[in-house]
Amino acid sequence: MTRRTAKRPAVRVRWELEEYTLIKSRMKGGETMDLFSSVTELRGIGPTRAKQLQRLHIETLYDLIAFFPRAYEDRTKISSIAGLEPGIPACFEAMVISNPQLSRIRKGMELVKVRVADETGRVDLVFFNQPYVKDQLVYGESYRFYGALRDGFGCQMQNPAFERADAAGAVTGRILPIYPLTAGVSNKLLGACVRQALASCAEDLPDILPASVQQQYGLCPARFAYETVHLPSSFDDLQKARRRLVFEEFFVFSAGLAAIRTQREALHTKAMDTQHMEPFYRLLPFRLTNAQQAAIDDILRDLSSCRPMNRLVQGDVGSGKTMVAAAACFCAIQNGHQAAFMAPTEILAEQHAQSLSRLFSPLGIHVTLLTGSMTAAQKRAAKSAIASGAAQLIIGTHALFTRELQFHDLALVVCDEQHRFGVAQRAALSAKGNTPHLLVMSATPIPRTLALIAYGDLDVSVISELPPGRLPVETFLIGEDKRKRLNTFIDKQCDAGHQVYIVCPAVEQSELEDLKSAEGWAQALGQAVFPHRRVGLLHGKMKQADKDAALGAFSRGETDILVATTVVEVGVDVPNATLMVIENADRFGLSQLHQLRGRVGRGSAQSYCILVSSNRNEQTRKRLKALCATTDGFQIAEEDLALRGPGDFLGQRQHGLPLFKVADLQMDMQTLMEAKQAAGAAMTGPETLELAAYAPLRARVDALFRQSDLALN
Ligand code: ADP
Ligand code: MG
Repeated sequence: MTRRTAKRPAVRVRWELEEYTLIKSRMKGGETMDLFSSVTELRGIGPTRAKQLQRLHIETLYDLIAFFPRAYEDRTKISSIAGLEPGIPACFEAMVISNPQLSRIRKGMELVKVRVADETGRVDLVFFNQPYVKDQLVYGESYRFYGALRDGFGCQMQNPAFERADAAGAVTGRILPIYPLTAGVSNKLLGACVRQALASCAEDLPDILPASVQQQYGLCPARFAYETVHLPSSFDDLQKARRRLVFEEFFVFSAGLAAIRTQREALHTKAMDTQHMEPFYRLLPFRLTNAQQAAIDDILRDLSSCRPMNRLVQGDVGSGKTMVAAAACFCAIQNGHQAAFMAPTEILAEQHAQSLSRLFSPLGIHVTLLTGSMTAAQKRAAKSAIASGAAQLIIGTHALFTRELQFHDLALVVCDEQHRFGVAQRAALSAKGNTPHLLVMSATPIPRTLALIAYGDLDVSVISELPPGRLPVETFLIGEDKRKRLNTFIDKQCDAGHQVYIVCPAVEQSELEDLKSAEGWAQALGQAVFPHRRVGLLHGKMKQADKDAALGAFSRGETDILVATTVVEVGVDVPNATLMVIENADRFGLSQLHQLRGRVGRGSAQSYCILVSSNRNEQTRKRLKALCATTDGFQIAEEDLALRGPGDFLGQRQHGLPLFKVADLQMDMQTLMEAKQAAGAAMTGPETLELAAYAPLRARVDALFRQSDLALN
């Protein structure tokens, strides 16, 4: 028996369906298969096909059954030939009225031509490279076809699908699922495999939802759902099936989160003393805003409890999150522990190290930086200070959490701007050392519903106000025709002693696209437009040392204009910069533009953001205008979600976030809320998932979270 068999559900539900038994008996060898049998058990699947299917992550029969179509073609309605519309595929029934002719038009290209007709008209069919069609279509016989008339070619149709009229039902007269494909695997083959898999073990499909949940939320049974997505008999049924599968996905996810939470709540740590924060407050050069103080109070309450903190501090760019984190670090250090501060980039890690060691130096707190670009000797020194406990506040990138790095007594981990740092990584972190307290900080105002997914395992504090005296950044959208005026404006800012960012969408010039590149534009500006200014360059492909030098020079005021890519997006803090110019602004998401804009307006001088775009598309201009009209990050986030979908927030690769196969994060939010509620009610304690009745659910939770290397244990 294989290891996977062990995961089979304890309780099996049996359905008695003759046709299944029939098909099953016809299957290869007739041996019994189960959900975890290899696809090679299926008729027509040998090692080569199995390899091809593997590219679609299909190895077992269950993988096949859970491989969902990406779309459906409605082939239910039968049209007459006269009713066909050019370019729109449809089904029709017709008789072959000419003998099919096979010809070779050029080397390797074979053509079958045949004419078909019904009472309303005739169509000339052309089949490319399907010589066998000549023998399949017989003069005088009737067939059902599915295809579209060629636009502008009268009554001609290329490569329609067809079947005998008296045996219709496979390719016509039904809703046809369209699967994602890979080389060598056709839609037909995949559909046939899925049907075989369903026939042989749909009855074994575990129902992972408690019966009460199914009833309360009006969901169809699991088996109906899986059969219907692959073999839909109507769009109504499909809708029901889809709702069930989306609900399942969210339920699995929510149950996993609930399990993480309850596991964590069962953990104990030593409570910190949080009564002696005065020395920290005295260090600050400004008064904390009420929102900052409230967030700090939330954090201190967590630290003084006996449970590990898991808190997200969400606040717009410039709201002063660093000081909130610093307060938490101070508390941990004062209690004799170490705190680690993780930044998304080395640049930012260095900036934090600089400003925090300056802040903490009056108290003699030892701040240590650890980044990949330090010399081996520097790293060795840092590591030994971290291991001995001499280093009290450790700042670095995610490299801080490689296995071999030993902390002396790590009690607090701060993740700055890590919105792509998912549930799984967070759980891995809590496993480091003595379950340290965790503080996540994000400036990405993420829509509430998406936050549920990205941060569903965290408590949230929102910093809803900016420090006083900040002037909102004035934002303008301009076209190429205003280039001269823009250059004058840039010059004026420099004259006033301020600095300017210019962000380009590309690093290097490309022949394919007419986009401003950081390299090309920096050179052009430096030589031709602003020879009297110091122009710097910063992009992700530069060597680390060069990046550091470029950013260092800009933050010390040694360059006037920094031409950069979006590497400046996150966290960089140069208060003297008052102008942000974004070239080809239509290329960016609203939230990203908002993030970039947050690099200015950090001091007391009036700041500006100029979006340059000559894109005339109405939708695009609407998007960019929305950014000019508001500086409220949350409002922008909602707008962005509506216009561009969730990809921008969760990242293209959704680092550490579960991938949903059916659910659409935008469309299915209502279902997410319901599933979350249902899962919360079902998961009454840490042991719920251990119950035998929940074994199938547990297996799904494990599988979902395993994508990101998280095991629940
Ligand atoms: P965030 O990380 O939230 O984008 P930062 O922590 O970098 O913001 O803070 C932005 C700037 O505001 C920094 O220069 C910081 O020193 C300053 N700052 C933070 N809190 C306050 C405050 N309460 N009053 C005035 N300035 C503040
Ligand atoms: Mg910050």
